[in-house]
Amino acid sequence: MKSLNRRSFLRTGLIAGADLAVLRSVRGGAGRAGRAAAVGAAAPTSSPAGAPAAPLQTLAMETYGRRAFNYLDAMIDKDGLPYFNIFWTRPTEAAHDWPDFGDVLSRQLQGAVMDRHMTGREAAWEKRWVAKTLGYLDPASGLLRRPKTSYNESVCDPGDQALTLFALVTIYLDRGDPAIAAAIRRIVAALRADVAAQGDKSPYLNGFLIKSVMAAARALQDESAFDLAGRITRHVFDRTTTFAPDNHFKHGGHMHGNLRTLVGAADYALQARDPELFGRVDAIFRFVKTVTTRFGFLPEEIGRRGDIVLCETCALMDFLGIASTLANHGHPEYWDDVERMARNQLIESQLVDPSWLAAGPPEAPGTPAGEGQADSAQFSRRDVAGRMVGAYAGWSSPTHFLAARESLNHHWGGPELHDKTRAFQNCCAGSGTHAFYTVWKNAARFEKGALSVHLHIDKLLPEAEIRCRQPWEGLLTIALKKDAEAVRVRVPDFLKAGEMKVSKLSRGGGAGAAAEAKPFGNYLELGNAKAGDVFRISYPVAVRSEEASIGNPGFKSYRYRVTWKGDSVVRMEPLGNDDKTGYSDFDGRQVPTYYGNEGPGPIYRRDSMLAAAEPALADLHEDDGVIDFWKLR
Ligand SMILES: [Zn+2]
Repeated sequence: MKSLNRRSFLRTGLIAGADLAVLRSVRGGAGRAGRAAAVGAAAPTSSPAGAPAAPLQTLAMETYGRRAFNYLDAMIDKDGLPYFNIFWTRPTEAAHDWPDFGDVLSRQLQGAVMDRHMTGREAAWEKRWVAKTLGYLDPASGLLRRPKTSYNESVCDPGDQALTLFALVTIYLDRGDPAIAAAIRRIVAALRADVAAQGDKSPYLNGFLIKSVMAAARALQDESAFDLAGRITRHVFDRTTTFAPDNHFKHGGHMHGNLRTLVGAADYALQARDPELFGRVDAIFRFVKTVTTRFGFLPEEIGRRGDIVLCETCALMDFLGIASTLANHGHPEYWDDVERMARNQLIESQLVDPSWLAAGPPEAPGTPAGEGQADSAQFSRRDVAGRMVGAYAGWSSPTHFLAARESLNHHWGGPELHDKTRAFQNCCAGSGTHAFYTVWKNAARFEKGALSVHLHIDKLLPEAEIRCRQPWEGLLTIALKKDAEAVRVRVPDFLKAGEMKVSKLSRGGGAGAAAEAKPFGNYLELGNAKAGDVFRISYPVAVRSEEASIGNPGFKSYRYRVTWKGDSVVRMEPLGNDDKTGYSDFDGRQVPTYYGNEGPGPIYRRDSMLAAAEPALADLHEDDGVIDFWKLR
C-alpha cells in the first residue's frame, strides 16, 4: 500500500502531505520486484524470444550487475579459471586460451569487486580469485607470469600487468589489505626497473598501463608510480604513432587499447596539471565520437580493410570511462553520450537469451550435442549457453549479438582452437560489469552539500534517491534524504530546459508546488532542499527517427533507421543490409555477416517501450563511495 501511495505521487505529483515514511519506503517496496529480477527478468531491454514478458522496471544498473553473477559464478573450470573463447558450435564450446590468466581472470575479479559494491552480493569465487591472482605473481619479479600449459607459454605480458595491477588496486581500495599494497608496489617497481634497463625498448611503455599505474599512484600516494605514468604517457604521445598530430587514430588502431590509453592520460594530465595533454585527450575523444553512433555502437578496430565492423564491450567500457572522466572535469556535455550508450548498446550487449548460442550455427543441427561430457583440461561443453547468461558481446552488430562469423585464427590459440566461429571473447565479460559500474558510480553525486544528477537513471545515494521512468514516460523524481544546499539535474540534449516542468513536495506537506528552476549550462539548478523534499521533473519523450551508418571507409557500409524515445532506442531497422557475406580481412575470405534482419541473437527488440506504461521500481543498492576511478581528486 505504501508503495502504491508513492507511485501515485510520482505519477500525479498531487498528493498533499505525503508522509516521510512513505517517501522512505521505496527501498523496501521495490525490493520484492528487484529480487524477482535476478537472472531472467529484464529491465528495459529486449525480452527473450518465446519467454514470458518480463515485468517492466525502471532502469537501474544494479539489474545488470545482478545478472552478471550467473556468468561469474558458473562459467569457470573446477579451479575457478575462466574461459576466453566461446565457440558457436554444437555443443557450444568454452575453451581456455592465453588471455585466461592475467587478462580474463583479472578483469572478472575487478568486475566482481565492483559488482559487490553495486549490488551487495559477492561472487562465489571472489576471495579465491584474489588468492589465485596473487599465486600467478612471479616470486622473482612480482609481475604476473602466465603458467606454461599446452596452449600457453610462460611469459610476462604488458596487458596482463595492466589488468592485474588495476584489479589489485580495486581490491586494495575495497579492503586496505597491506599484502595487496605490497603486491602493487612490487609490480610498479618491476615495471620501473624494466623501463630503466631497456629505455624506449621496454614493452611496458604501453598506453594500456597508464590508468592502472595512475590508480596505484593515487591509491597508495606513490610518487614513483606517478613518475612511471608520466614516462609512459610521454612515450606514447610524443614518440609513437598511436595518435596522429591531428588527433585521430592511425589506421588499424584498436579501440579498447586506445581508449584505455586516453582514460589513463586524462588521469595523469589532471594530476600533473597539464592542460595541454588534457585538451589533446578531449580532442581525440571527439574524434572517437565521430566514429561512434549516437546509440553507442563503436568499431572494435578503426580502419579495417574489409567489410566487417563489430562492437566490443571492452571498448564500450573505456568509452564510458573516458567520457565520464572528461564530463566530471569540465565537459558535462559528454553525459549525453554516457547515457545513450548505457541505455542502448551496453544494455543490448549483455546476454539474456542464450537460445541462439545453445542451438548452434545453421549447419550444426544433427551433430551430436555432446552435453554432459566431462571437462577436459582446455575445453568445457556443459551447458555453456546457460552459463553465459550475464556475459557480454565481443562482436555485436546494431541488430545481432554476433555481427560476423570470423575464426580469428591468427589472433588466438593453437590448432585445437582454429576454424571455429568465435561467438564471444570473454575479456568482455569482466569489462561489461566494469562498464555498468562506471555508469552507476557516475549517475549522480552528492559533494560539498550539492546534489548533481548527471544521468536520468535510478540511483541510491546516502543523501538522495533518484528514479526515472524513461523510456515509458519522461518523469524523474529526486527524493532528498539529507539537506542539500543545491540540487541540479542535467537537461538531456533531446530537450530544451524550458520543456522540463519541476514541482517540489516539501516535508510535512505542500501540494507539489512549482519549483523555481534556472537553466545553467546543460543543467537545471533547482535551488536548495531539505531532507524529505521530493522534486518531480516531467518532460516530453517524443518519438523521433534518424538514420545511422557504420562500416569501414572504402568498404561496405550498413545503414539503419533508428527510432528514439527520449534517450532510448525503441526500434532498429536495417536499411537494405541483406548481403549474406562480407570480406573479412582478418580471415582473408568471405564470411557470413549479420547486419540485416537475419542472424543470431537479435537485439533491440523494444517495441514494448513505445507504449506508455508504469514500470515497477527496480531494486537499488546504496552507493558506499568506495571505488571511484573517474572523479579524480
Ligand atoms: Zn573484450
